[in-house]
Amino acid sequence: MALIRVALPLPLDRLFTYRLDADAPAPPRGGRVVVEFRRRRLVGFAIETTAEEPEGVRLKAVERVLDTEPVISDTEWSLAEWMARYYVAPIGLVLRLFYPPGSTGEAEDGDGPGGAPRRRHVLPAPEMGAEERAAIASTLARAPQQRRVWSATLELDEPVEQAALCEALGVSAGVVAALVARGLVRVEDREVVLDPYGAGGQLEVAAEGDSTPEQSAAIAEIRQALSGGGELTPFLLQGITGSGKTRVYVEAVAAALERGGKAIVLVPEIGLAAPTVARFRARFGERVAVLHSGLSRGERASAWNRVRSGAAPIVVGARSALFAPVGRADLVVVDEEHETAYKQDETPRYLARDVAVYRASLEGAVAVLGSATPSLESRSNAEAGKYRRLSLPARIAGRPLPTVEIVDLAGEGAVVAPGLSDVLVAAIADALESGDQALLFLNRRGFAAFLQCTDCGWVGPCPNCKISLTYHRGSPRLLCHYCDHREPVPDFCPACAGRRLDTRGIGTQQVETAVRTRFPDARIARMDLDTTGPKWSHARLYRAMQALEIDILVGTQMIAKGFDLPGVGLVGVVSADTALHFPDFRSTERTFQLLVQVAGRAGRGDRPGRVVFQTYLPEHFVLTAAAAHDYEAFYRREKPDRLGLGYPPATRLANVVASGKDAASVEEAMARVADHLRRREAGGLTVVGPAPCPLERLRGRWRHHVLLKAEVAPILDRTLHDLARREDALVGTANRLEIDRDPMSLL
Ligand code: ADP
Ligand code: ZN
Ligand code: ZN
Repeated sequence: MALIRVALPLPLDRLFTYRLDADAPAPPRGGRVVVEFRRRRLVGFAIETTAEEPEGVRLKAVERVLDTEPVISDTEWSLAEWMARYYVAPIGLVLRLFYPPGSTGEAEDGDGPGGAPRRRHVLPAPEMGAEERAAIASTLARAPQQRRVWSATLELDEPVEQAALCEALGVSAGVVAALVARGLVRVEDREVVLDPYGAGGQLEVAAEGDSTPEQSAAIAEIRQALSGGGELTPFLLQGITGSGKTRVYVEAVAAALERGGKAIVLVPEIGLAAPTVARFRARFGERVAVLHSGLSRGERASAWNRVRSGAAPIVVGARSALFAPVGRADLVVVDEEHETAYKQDETPRYLARDVAVYRASLEGAVAVLGSATPSLESRSNAEAGKYRRLSLPARIAGRPLPTVEIVDLAGEGAVVAPGLSDVLVAAIADALESGDQALLFLNRRGFAAFLQCTDCGWVGPCPNCKISLTYHRGSPRLLCHYCDHREPVPDFCPACAGRRLDTRGIGTQQVETAVRTRFPDARIARMDLDTTGPKWSHARLYRAMQALEIDILVGTQMIAKGFDLPGVGLVGVVSADTALHFPDFRSTERTFQLLVQVAGRAGRGDRPGRVVFQTYLPEHFVLTAAAAHDYEAFYRREKPDRLGLGYPPATRLANVVASGKDAASVEEAMARVADHLRRREAGGLTVVGPAPCPLERLRGRWRHHVLLKAEVAPILDRTLHDLARREDALVGTANRLEIDRDPMSLL
């Protein structure tokens, strides 16, 4: 009788032994097996056979072997082992990444676990003639909200998720229910499918001429690296906004394909990458598999199979696409390599950019990291010769970078409407006059930052998180942007029963309202999480911008990323310095990156663009460097600051967070952890803290942390693994310890 040791997809860092019946096929290393564990049936991974029978337990048998052929290649295995070690994560949670989402974890009967979530959708009413419609339209004249919903369903003529519809139209679910009662719409539970790249989702792609000399030079270097020989140094493609980086990626992929190779292209968020995906689709058609979380289970399986069979040698997707079954990759591209979205915020807390570089080194693949505003880590790797810098210093076709004006909001009379200075209002008027489109950027959705009682100062808090609730209009309510807790807007202050509740701080809804008031004839739209649910998606609004059906688009960072629209003549940044005040050592870097990205959306057509930064800190070097589009100036100034404070790229960090339901118990647990770590301080390790996390309470859990700084990585390896082994003893079973290596956020 054979015994195998199995890793389970659970946060348990140990293996479990099961019997394998004589007639069962032997699973390959990393193959999936169904086993019973604590009265649940789980899909785990076979790690090794063993002769050692654990004492005193009655071994259960493996119920089913799902993979009889090897799925995980040798390099993939090495990669998984490295990730488990480096990020201090159980191997069972790492191996999950190498299988289609939903095919591991809790086992189900039938064709495997998982499946697309089902949500309530609204469908148009049954067939109706024009006369009948007109009759109904007049019945609904007195019910404008119902009428809006009804005509939206007619216009869409396909099922739309109810929550997204209500959000977009600013109505409550009751409005839909009223229409259902009138028999004008139907509701139905359906699988959520969000595929902006499916039928009809393609974006137009402009024809490009020959590569520019700078593009050609970059492509030639990558080609040469692909043709092998010599040491493989990752490339850092540093190209200003609009310099044509995507073209370089596309040509690099073409070169890998010519050689019969495979390529993985990572984008930070697939939902915002439609223009990039469209360019790959336009060039390579069906040979591109686009992987994203919105695919239904069937679509996902088919994309996965097309990759494995080799029918699709190109994979484009968010961070998890790095683990698609390509076998061996020849080229790994990481677009916008500085983006925090490359960090996974649950175990394993990997940073896909770094894992991509590691994967490339294991496989002898070429890694290309691209950005207009590289992370300080990558830029300094290039300075140290660990990366090779390729540079695209100019925009395509000699287009100038837009001119940036900095407006001091503290100046007298500067603010003329919520979020709008006199300069910005005049600039919008100019843009409309000359037929240019305008983008107005603000990094907060909702109407106002919060609601406050002007008598006693009360601010509505989230019951689960230690932050205030954001005030949303539409269907008015208070909303937590961290845990999605919602509550109705109170009529009077819950603390003093006063009736004077006022809004503070502005959000995109308020800016949209202000712009509508100022420019009643302009065609105005808003793009943020609230307006881009399925079917009201990013791609739909993007197409409307492309077709010049929108004059002014107000939005969050969604409009900062990947927008390549020649019609945009003006970009207004409503509040350029908000992110600077975040309690995070990267807040300066993030602000700079965001400002450069947003500013870079202007002037991509024939006319030069114009940008307005509104700020209370007009002299701050982040603003002046971003206004001059001068990354190098920013880098020269910021790097010494970081070195001085002992932050990356000078030091290696790990954030260790204890969390639990009881505040005192969490604080004590963290004190024990900090004591334990302090005894290991010295020899290149520094312990900062313990302290409450900036977000001290999140989703109902209290949180305390310590920050570990190490001069070199191996010190952290040892310290963190030792810590993980003592987790139960140090924090107790009621609390949880999370280790975040190379953290992208300390909140
Ligand atoms: P980046 O990603 O560097 O901001 P993009 O790759 O989006 O820049 O390119 C900016 C624009 O220039 C795109 O519309 C693209 O189609 C166009 N473009 C890129 N390369 C060329 C070229 N060689 N000739 C003409 N147009 C180009
Ligand atoms: Zn009050
Ligand atoms: Zn909350």
